[in-house]
Amino acid sequence: MLTTWFKIPLWRRVVAALVLGIATGWFWGPEAESIKWIGDFFIKSIKMLVVPLIFFSLVSGVAAIGDLRKLGAVGGRAMLLFVVTGQIAVWLGLGLGTLFQPGSGVDTSAIAKGATPEPNPTTAVDMILSIIPESPVRVMADVAVLPLIVFSLLVGIGILMAKEEGEPVQKVFDSGAVIMQKVTMLVMELTPFGVFALMAWVAGTLGLDALSALAQLVALNYFGCLLIIFVMYSAMIKFLAKLPVGDFFRGIIDAMAVSYSTASSNATLPVTLRCAERNLGVSNSVASFVISLGATINMNGTAMYLGLATLFGAQVFGVDLSMGDYFLISILATLGAVGAAGIPGAGLIMMALVFGAVGVPLETIAFVAGVDRIMDMMRTTTNVSGDAAVATTVAVMTGEIDRAAMVSADDV
Ligand code: ASP
Repeated sequence: MLTTWFKIPLWRRVVAALVLGIATGWFWGPEAESIKWIGDFFIKSIKMLVVPLIFFSLVSGVAAIGDLRKLGAVGGRAMLLFVVTGQIAVWLGLGLGTLFQPGSGVDTSAIAKGATPEPNPTTAVDMILSIIPESPVRVMADVAVLPLIVFSLLVGIGILMAKEEGEPVQKVFDSGAVIMQKVTMLVMELTPFGVFALMAWVAGTLGLDALSALAQLVALNYFGCLLIIFVMYSAMIKFLAKLPVGDFFRGIIDAMAVSYSTASSNATLPVTLRCAERNLGVSNSVASFVISLGATINMNGTAMYLGLATLFGAQVFGVDLSMGDYFLISILATLGAVGAAGIPGAGLIMMALVFGAVGVPLETIAFVAGVDRIMDMMRTTTNVSGDAAVATTVAVMTGEIDRAAMVSADDV
């Protein structure tokens, strides 16, 4: 029986677990919370990988690129795609919010059923300062991903600059990265169980009535995210990378399922890396570099949502926004998406940054908190798919893809 289980490709087991989990939660109701610990166990084991994986993968990825000029070519293209897609995403959110007016006529007494987080206003200056690691060791202990990325990039660049003298350390990082991938493989075997438990919990505890008051916002969030994934990323893969779109999505289905159920780009990072390298044929250096970076700074689902939610709040509380405000929102939502950690609920906290600047009351955060998880799942899937799409496109542009691996992918 065990051999039969392992013979089924992991992605099939994961998708089956997702569907079964929803069905179980649906029938079982709030009691499904009792198996949430299995999901927590899974998230914890996967989170354990985040710091060593980012550190080893990013340093070895940067060093593997070989020279600073090529690093600029890969990094520059990735950053350009991150920024352009991020802007399209925010304006999509603003467009959907303006067109459908999800916040007008909302009965404010019917919403706000979930826990209310303390609004935590972050200024743009705080954010810029927080990406500089004061102590690399503390940054690792705190799992502070953005400063860790800065430190890892610098170490990688240092290795490149040191040339031959950097080689022994580069080897250590290369071997560390391979080891972490093996550890990831082991932990990935927990995925079907974790996904099952998390989906049962979400479906069981977030009943339909909690959703109905905010249904429009939730629906628009899903609609916007689906547009980003299936229109924007498909176009990127088809026209920029010139690869079969179906194969791309088939290759990242594991990462999509894990991101949907965990609502965490960071927790999904090991899976995204594996999908990109094994199923899409993206070279190890480009995948490690672009995806580790993207998991923290490339969040198009979050950017779209921040735009949409700001309009929602403005409509609920009758705040008039000018065109200038729209531009301000587009900049702040992009910053917020960059600054949001890849953890559940991070986008919700970042709302304070945008709301404060355009005068939308922070109470809006409490309104949407109850249904944030279900929206978070979708925006995380969007964020993670975006990382894979950018990595694949950059790999094609810089000749770092093995097309044969992509076409023949049928197992994970
Ligand atoms: N949970 C999201 C992520 O990890 C961030 C967010 O809350 O929007 O990608």
